[in-house]
Amino acid sequence: MTTWDHVIIGGGIMGASLAYQLTRHGNDKVLLIEKSFPGAGSTGKSGAILRQHYSHEITVAMAREGLDWYSRFEEEHGRSISFNRPGMAFICTDDNRPNLERNVELQKQLGVQTEIIDSSDLRELEPGGTFRDDECAAWESEAGNVQPVQAVNEILTVAREQGTEVLFGRRVVSLIENNSTITGVTLDDQQQISAGNVVICAGPWSGQMLKEAGVSLPLTAVRPEQAFFEPPPGAHERRLIYGDLTNGLYWKPELAGWTRVGLLDMDEDAVVSDPDHYDEGVSHQFIQGCRQKLSRRLPHYAHSPSWGGVGALYTVTPDSHPVIGPVPGREGAWIVSGFSGHGFKMAPAVSRGVASILGSAPAGSFDPDFFCPLRFDKGSPIEVTYGYGILG
Ligand SMILES: Cc1cc2nc3c(=O)[nH]c(=O)nc-3n(C[C@H](O)[C@H](O)[C@H](O)COP(=O)(O)OP(=O)(O)OC[C@H]3O[C@@H](n4cnc5c(N)ncnc54)[C@H](O)[C@@H]3O)c2cc1C
Repeated sequence: MTTWDHVIIGGGIMGASLAYQLTRHGNDKVLLIEKSFPGAGSTGKSGAILRQHYSHEITVAMAREGLDWYSRFEEEHGRSISFNRPGMAFICTDDNRPNLERNVELQKQLGVQTEIIDSSDLRELEPGGTFRDDECAAWESEAGNVQPVQAVNEILTVAREQGTEVLFGRRVVSLIENNSTITGVTLDDQQQISAGNVVICAGPWSGQMLKEAGVSLPLTAVRPEQAFFEPPPGAHERRLIYGDLTNGLYWKPELAGWTRVGLLDMDEDAVVSDPDHYDEGVSHQFIQGCRQKLSRRLPHYAHSPSWGGVGALYTVTPDSHPVIGPVPGREGAWIVSGFSGHGFKMAPAVSRGVASILGSAPAGSFDPDFFCPLRFDKGSPIEVTYGYGILG
């Protein structure tokens, strides 16, 4: 039986990036197992916004590392992930201004190109937009996005060129345990695979997988909804990315020319008990609500065609930050999950950090203590600055 140095469960952006980092730096034998296809979980439906507006030194630095890495991917590997850089504005009213100012100051110190702009600057930035006099924004000109399905596939392609082996369409049904040490995994055809490290990058499926191994971590799968609209021909719009704290909304241009709209509040998202069977549709009510809120900002969306929407999956934790580290009480296993709707941009820094601990990658901005899976038991969750945990 082949023994792998690392078995990665899940071919989303985390699993693919980790396979890339482990095989980029060193000769470890890496096997990635994906039950469906790359991007089948949260990754494939991601907005893949790459912003650096975060509230903690570590998360700003990680988002910065991620943005830089994605921006260089095509040049380095000759493969397009459709990286582009429209810039992003975080709009809020005076009540959130102190938070915004504090965060912008922190980000500037860490090298982010960002500034506070007032309502007249906002009107100049988006001449067709409606902004209140008491609103301001953090403008981040470097913010960008990628096409998530392209990105996960291309990263995995490079990982395979570097030596990663993959099994697609095969499901891990259990972790093999020997005296509280995980020594491998069992697949759906009962094949057993032996591994030095098993890394669970199973997104919304992670909580259940751990539970079946007798480990309880606060990971919950929820169902956010997204709506898509087509701007009417001739509409005056800059096609920027927005986080609108006043209306609890974000929107961004999609490659197809549509505009994606989602809500910042995750508290109302339905809990999903079986991520293999969940409602991928959205209600008329949700689409109308998004249209109404968006057209408060950009009036032309009141008369724009709707392209429906999609129900997706987030894996959330109580403090809206991931759990990354050794699985408590199970040697030989790591958990990398719980990204609470904002993990895409973090994948390069997370994967490099994990690969520096489990393999030979050089250390980066990742700090394992910050994301310790036991922080909730220790009563030290990560502090969340804004009312919306998804902002981090
Ligand atoms: C609608 C939406 C919008 C988002 N927008 C943004 C954004 O703008 N910016 C940002 O930074 N982040 C965003 N995110 C969050 C980001 O996309 C996720 O944090 C990230 O994709 C999580 O990746 P993952 O690899 O951890 O999980 P997933 O992508 O869910 O991957 C897990 C994989 O594991 C596989 N798997 C599960 N169980 C098994 C098993 N037993 N055996 C084998 N394989 C298994 C699944 O099939 C799946 O492919 C968004 C997410 C969503 C849903």
